[in-house]
Order: sequence, then C-alpha cells, then structure tokens
Amino acid sequence: MPWFWWLPLTVVVLILLGWLLGPPLLRGFIKRRLQHYRVAVNVVDPSLPTALTGPRRVAVLGGGVAGLTAAITLARRGFQVELFEANEYLGGKLGSWKVPLGPGEAAWVSHGFHAFFANYYNLDRFLGSLGTRDGFQSIGEYVILGTTGAQVRFGKLETTPVFNLLALARAGVYRFRDVLKAPARDLFGVFLEYDAKETFARYDAVSFADFDRLTQLPPGLKLAFNTFARAFFSDEDKLSLAELIKSFHFYYLSQDGGLVYEYPVHDYEPQFLAPMRAELERHGAKVHLSTKVSSLAKTAEGFTVNGAPFERVVLSTDIVGARSIMTNAVGVPDEVKARFEKLVPGQRYAVLRIWIDKDVREGYPPFVITDRVKVLDAFTTYHRFEHEAAEWTKRHGGAVLELHCYAVPEALTPDEVKRALLDELVQFFPEVKGFTVKHEVFQLNRNFTAFHLGMNAHRPETDSGVPGLCCAGDWVKLPFPAMLLEAACASGYLAANTLLREAGLQEEPVQSVPLRGLMAGMPQPPARKLLVPGGTP
Ligand SMILES: Cc1cc2nc3c(=O)[nH]c(=O)nc-3n(C[C@H](O)[C@H](O)[C@H](O)COP(=O)(O)OP(=O)(O)OC[C@H]3O[C@@H](n4cnc5c(N)ncnc54)[C@H](O)[C@@H]3O)c2cc1C
Repeated sequence: MPWFWWLPLTVVVLILLGWLLGPPLLRGFIKRRLQHYRVAVNVVDPSLPTALTGPRRVAVLGGGVAGLTAAITLARRGFQVELFEANEYLGGKLGSWKVPLGPGEAAWVSHGFHAFFANYYNLDRFLGSLGTRDGFQSIGEYVILGTTGAQVRFGKLETTPVFNLLALARAGVYRFRDVLKAPARDLFGVFLEYDAKETFARYDAVSFADFDRLTQLPPGLKLAFNTFARAFFSDEDKLSLAELIKSFHFYYLSQDGGLVYEYPVHDYEPQFLAPMRAELERHGAKVHLSTKVSSLAKTAEGFTVNGAPFERVVLSTDIVGARSIMTNAVGVPDEVKARFEKLVPGQRYAVLRIWIDKDVREGYPPFVITDRVKVLDAFTTYHRFEHEAAEWTKRHGGAVLELHCYAVPEALTPDEVKRALLDELVQFFPEVKGFTVKHEVFQLNRNFTAFHLGMNAHRPETDSGVPGLCCAGDWVKLPFPAMLLEAACASGYLAANTLLREAGLQEEPVQSVPLRGLMAGMPQPPARKLLVPGGTP
C-alpha cells in the first residue's frame, strides 16, 4: 500500500487527538500561566515567634470586616487591642441588628444580601479560623432579569478563564459575530491584560460609558456589563474602566471559581458576628460599641484616640469616617491630610427590606440581578432560604424581600426612591400587584467606596504616611487585585502584618489571584488609542 494512503487517516487521527487533547492542554496552559489561580503575597518565616511577650496597645478604629480581621489577628498574637465602633453592632456593612415586627415578633436585618465568591481566599481563611465557614449554600444560578422578560441565566458554566468567556456566548449572553467586529474586537482585549500599573495609567480616566459607546456593546453583553458595573455602586459615566478591568480580572479572568457564589443561610449576627465578638473577648480585646472616634492625635509616645493613649492605630473605618478622622487629626502632616481629603464616597445606595402579603413567582435563585428601569438593581427572596423569614411567611403568608439600588439617582428624594423600588418590583413581578407592606426597613446611605474616574492615584495604602498608623478597609489601595469583602479582609491582614513585622513576629499568610492578566504585556492593537481621551487609532 503506497505510504500516502495513510495521510488522510493520519490527518483525521491528528484532528481527533487535537479535538480531544486540545482543550485539556489549553486549560492546563492557562492554569499554569495564571499560577494555578492563587499566589502567595508574602513570605511567612516559621522561625519567628508568633506572639508578643510585652504589652503593646493598639486602637482599631471601625469594626467592619477590615477592622475585625486586624483586631482579631492582633489580639490572638498578644496585642492589647481596643476596638472603637460607631454603630451599636459590629460588622460594618456586614453588620446586622434586630427590629421588632409586632407583639412577640422580631427579625434580624442587615445592610443587604452579600455574595461570597470562591476567590475570596483571605476571607475564607479568616472565617475558617473562626469556625464560621459552615452554613453556606451555593446560589446555583446567576440570573439577570430584564423588564421585558429577557433573561441572562447561567449556572454551572465552564470556569477556566477564556473558556468561561466562550461559554458565555454558548449561554446566549452574546454572539461571536458581534464581538469579532472592529473596534469591539480590538478593545475587548483590555479585560485579559490586567496589570495594575499599566491598566490604571491607561484607563483610570476612561469611563465605562465611554467604553460602551466605543465598542457598541451588543445587548446581552451590555446588560451583563451594566449590572456588573453597577454592583460597584456607580453609574456608567462615573465608573473607572481601570477599576472595571481589575474587577473582571479578579472575579472572572484570573481564577476558576466562576461567578456562582455562596451565601450564608443564617443571619450575619449568629453566623459571623457573635463568634467574632467571642474571639475578641477570649483574647482580652476591649470592644467599645456606639463609640464614634472623634479625635485622633499623633503624640511623641504614639497616639491618642478620643483622648486615650495608644502605641499604634489601625484606621479601618469606612471612607467617610477615615476622611473626617484624618483631616481633623492633630500632628498629621499636611500631605497625608491632603490625600485623605480626596477620599469621597460613591453615590447613595438604598436597601429596602419588606414583609408583604403576596409572594413572587418561583423559579429563581434567592438573589436576582435586575436590569433597572430607574432604581431596582437586585432583589432577594429571604423567605426562600432564611429560617426566620420562612417562619414569618409560614405564620402570615406572603414574602420577605429585599430590594437594592446601588447608585441612586441624585435627584430622587428618599420617599421617591422607596416608591420607585416598590413600583419596579411590580414591573418585574406583576403577580404581586396590589400587595400590602406589613413591615419595612428602609436604608439610604452614602458611605460606599467610590471607584470613580481618576481616584486610584490618591487612594491611601496600608502605610498611611504617619509612622505607627496603618489603614485597612475596602478603600485601601492594595498591592494585588481584590474587591469588596475580600479587599476589606485582605487589607485587615496587611495592616496586622505591618505591626507583626515591626514587632519581629511571624506574619499571617496573605494570598491573591494572579497579579496580572493572561495577556498582560502583549503588544497593543492601534485601536486601543481610541480609549485614551481624545485619542485616534
Ligand atoms: C448593599 C450592599 C451589598 C453588598 N454586597 C456585597 C457582596 O455581595 N459581596 C461583597 O464582597 N461585598 C459586598 N458589599 C460590600 C461589602 O459590604 C464591603 O466591601 C465590606 O463590608 C467593607 O468592609 P470594611 O470593613 O472595609 O468597611 P465597613 O463595613 O464600612 O466598616 C467600617 C466601620 O467603621 C465604622 N465607623 C465609621 N466611622 C467611624 C468613626 N468615626 N468611629 C468609629 N467607627 C466608625 C462604621 O460604623 C463601620 O462599622 C456590599 C455592600 C452593600 C452596602
């Protein structure tokens, strides 16, 4: 038989092998290039001691996740920790408090439903160390609901970065032909090229609205991008494209956990806060609730906080508290104050918990993102997963819902926001038309970290610029990509590590997703210049 008769068969075998082995090989390559999706940020020297032998007084200002991480870590290592919290409860934006609902009835409420993603490596370790990582449930499916009935739904999608982008197309979020057209084709690459220095230098002055206009996002992708962007409490014209690229890198393109997250089935107080308070007490830390820090002074020996002396301070309030404390602080250099002066919160956000006499239709996960008409960005069906809320609906019928608006239009009064949230609920779920609100808890706040245009350059880092004073909070500029709860927890570890290092003690390990994107450092197509304000390709 002539040798060339084998050629077609060889080609077929090669194609088959390529088809079978290609994706696994490519997945392996991506995983290796992305350092198995997890990198150590610091080196922990096991030969160093773990605990202090002498006294050292540390004030932790603010008891959110960042402050609690720092306070618990330092208290465990022998520091004399005092935690000052303005609220009457711990937890900050993860805090919760009880409200009366009627004779013999009460309910825990919080600042809002929270999603815990698979790449929250530091938070996961912190909660694990407290034994509070049990009692979580997977959301199962990520759903974005449009008013017209259009939906984006994806559950167990392929999770390997890049493959997960292709899987979105297969799930109907976009069509290949829409993104293969110029200039979208040349501009979308920015999401795979995250590199802190380059990305912020190039795109921190570009808004997501500009990106949207230039790429002419197809409707499905626009819906997904818009809702993702709004989860950072910002309208599209204010949100920095660099922050959005960082978020995409962090949540989707640097790790294989996917967007299907977990949530606790119990309220935050029994789930997290009671064990955290117990841990602080066990290690001798003092917790001052309902104690707003109104004065901070740098002294020759250290600091005074509300007049009491401390050797070290961790500033872990929210952005509003940090700005106020630092700009009014005594003995703090003007250039440090100037940096804190630039810290401003994002837009207002609203959270409305309602106990109503009608129920919304079944068939959705407990948390659903909505393509807002005017205000409604997401809603949660508490009675479908939380024990207390389920008990309430067993007794009274109806539903316990929470409605979110992440970037409230400035022109709306609080009453108008509430009205619009309730009206929009009916637009998405006409079956509850005519419902009666039996109880409600309405919150309208402006204390969320802004991820707006041009802000990154001024963001304080762990080292505040004042010796002995460290910053922690989701507003701190970290040396690795992290967002929201994970950024808060990681920043708490970094602040604690600064004090541990200074005392000659072993640091806590801190981990991150890879610092750079899969295609960081690759040559830029000329069309990228479109993204530079006033630029032409
Ligand atoms: C509605 C909503 C939904 C969210 N959903 C998610 C989500 O799904 N996933 C996610 O990862 N993140 C989510 N987040 C964000 C997350 O809650 C925050 O990123 C995180 O909790 C911030 O923690 P922190 O410790 O940095 O700050 P905070 O939680 O704001 O804590 C700061 C603390 O400082 C206190 N304080 C302020 N000023 C003073 C003062 N002068 N003296 C003493 N104390 C002071 C405050 O009372 C507060 O307790 C959401 C936030 C909101 C509001």
